[in-house]
Amino acid sequence: MRSLIAFLALSLTVHALEPIPDKLVVLTFDDAVSNHATFVAPMLKKLGFGATFYVCEFQPDFETNKEQYMTWEQIKSLHEMGFEVGNHTGHHKHVNGLKKEQLVEEIEFLERRCAEHGIPRPTTFCYPAYGTGPLALTVLTEKGYLFAREGHNRTYDPAKDDALLIPSVSLSGENTAPFYDALKLAEDGHIVVLTFHGIPEHTHPWVNTPPEIFEQYMKYLADNHYTAMSVRDLARYIDPIKARSAIKAEKH
Ligand SMILES: [Zn+2]
Repeated sequence: MRSLIAFLALSLTVHALEPIPDKLVVLTFDDAVSNHATFVAPMLKKLGFGATFYVCEFQPDFETNKEQYMTWEQIKSLHEMGFEVGNHTGHHKHVNGLKKEQLVEEIEFLERRCAEHGIPRPTTFCYPAYGTGPLALTVLTEKGYLFAREGHNRTYDPAKDDALLIPSVSLSGENTAPFYDALKLAEDGHIVVLTFHGIPEHTHPWVNTPPEIFEQYMKYLADNHYTAMSVRDLARYIDPIKARSAIKAEKH
């Protein structure tokens, strides 16, 4: 009897994670653009979607250009609405150009800003300009980050992709094909992680998404019963630490 109970307890621990459903989409929004608070978040809330907003104090004018960038009060309001506020470094620094202590400082700068505004310490990270490197993996692990997102324009396969190097499909412009093409791949354990910037985007026009196209995307997800969530919510399906060591063991 006792061994049966032990067995059941073990099974529960092992199977505590839910299987990855088909039609799973992760929504991420980079660079703390003001319309993330004024336009995107209210729309997502209405649709019941989760999302991660990867914020930083983008230079040279985060402090003064409030047409482009959110205030910290707006960033806090995203957290209060139930969205995830993630770490995009203090000042949008490309991590592969930094020494270890500089990267640590960039990560901690954003953590301090969050603490000052009553926002929980971020547990997920996003690489500015999609640049990664071995040092970043070490630092993020040491700092207790669970998931980190980059680029590559392909789906995320947790059985093969490191949880600290999550690929994403970056969307911008008028061409909607990459969105619909990516969605078709959200099955058999593959997750579609989408990256957006400003909606619209004035300061960095090369990553602009027109608001009417974004609205069309979100409506499509809702009408076709996709689940849209934040990066941190992936912990429902993936134990990032176990997944990372399994992938490492397989590679050696
Ligand atoms: Zn960025």
